[in-house]
Amino acid sequence: MDDSIKDALGITDTRVTFDEKFKQTHSEEITPKGVAYVWNLKLSYPMNCPNCKKRMNYNGTKTVIHQAIPTGTKLNFFRIRKQKYLCKYCGNTEIAMLKDVNKREHIFKAVKQKAALDIAEDASFKLIAKENNISANTVTRTALSLGAYLKPNYKFLPNHIAFDDFKSGKFSKSGMSILLVNISNHRTIDVIADRGGKSLEKYFLRYSRKAREAVMTVTVDLFSPYRPIIANVFPNAIILADHFHVVVQAYTALQQVRIRIMKGFKKDSREHRQLSKFWKLIVKRNTDLNRSNRYRRRNFRGAMLTSEEIVQRLLQLSPELRSAYNFYQDILFVIQNQDAQLLKQKIWPDKDDPQYEAFPKEMNRAKLTLRRHYQEISNSFIKDYKGYTNGPGEGCNNKIKVIKRTAYGFRNFTNFRLRILVAFSTSFYSINYKNSLKQLNKKTTNPPERELVA
Ligand SMILES: [Zn+2]
Repeated sequence: MDDSIKDALGITDTRVTFDEKFKQTHSEEITPKGVAYVWNLKLSYPMNCPNCKKRMNYNGTKTVIHQAIPTGTKLNFFRIRKQKYLCKYCGNTEIAMLKDVNKREHIFKAVKQKAALDIAEDASFKLIAKENNISANTVTRTALSLGAYLKPNYKFLPNHIAFDDFKSGKFSKSGMSILLVNISNHRTIDVIADRGGKSLEKYFLRYSRKAREAVMTVTVDLFSPYRPIIANVFPNAIILADHFHVVVQAYTALQQVRIRIMKGFKKDSREHRQLSKFWKLIVKRNTDLNRSNRYRRRNFRGAMLTSEEIVQRLLQLSPELRSAYNFYQDILFVIQNQDAQLLKQKIWPDKDDPQYEAFPKEMNRAKLTLRRHYQEISNSFIKDYKGYTNGPGEGCNNKIKVIKRTAYGFRNFTNFRLRILVAFSTSFYSINYKNSLKQLNKKTTNPPERELVA
């Protein structure tokens, strides 16, 4: 059989020939998967009995259909007449084995490898299955078989880690899963199924004691239940509050106050429109507001106002809103300047501090949360740990959102986890995954003689 045809069809098994029983090498046929080329091939070679080590007798043939890699948009199927064997000494029977296909499978290894590579892109398992003309289950199994030995290294953890939680819905009891990140190089270590209950503790206890003792800081959001678990599994670690989540506390409260005040005005009133339309200016850092360009503002009776002047007008509508705004701006300032002393003053103000007159209940709740986590926030300002906080999580979460949107094929957490880890090109997993694909390619698609040339 012509080597170039074999190459084009992705056959590396040199013992395959065209079947002389057929006049044509191939024909176009209608198959359950659509119109395809069906190639008539034969696989026969001398075989020794695995038991007696003696040459076996030929004992008829069996025709098997295999799905190979497509040429262009055309599917290729191989109708292979495989030699059957009989051992006259022990009665053992065998059948010829095609090297390009795993035992008891019908789809070429090359097809599965292509699918495995596609998983690293942003497409759903379903779409990958469709494009490669295989079932979604086959895609999953392929990916999992490649990832089988890519378990996290339970003997190692970096010195500085972070938890980045994300909504995972049905995949966890609490509805939240965690991305475990090496915060000093922003590499993803693993995905932890459930942040609630005992599962987080159980997960980390799989790591060796030495690995856990190496952890010096854990950066987390302000989710309280983490604390006792972290103290238990990481005996040497201190907790750093993630700056992004600190700001989120005050941000959320400010938005709640603004909406409550807005709803106190009639829906068709000017004040309602103003508070609704300019919310982005209220949450902006005050020092970043434009103070020089005046524009005619329809919602302010056509007055010529800068962005900063608009904010001043909005704050005049409510002492509560002003008070919430000031506190929020203080928190932004504290985080920007990493000033623990100032934070302390702001969240434990003197009784006669005029700034917090009419302090709204929503912001008070945020303030109490910040008090509870004061130590962790001030830890995060320690010079040695700079850069181990702030939200790289943001980007991760967006990526996960995209994966979830395209994730029709995820019936279980295993697939979901695999997909997330492969999608982060910097995860340890991803790097291993791609290496394992390279290894696989070398083994199956390169004939050994070519390796000698190289
Ligand atoms: Zn035998």
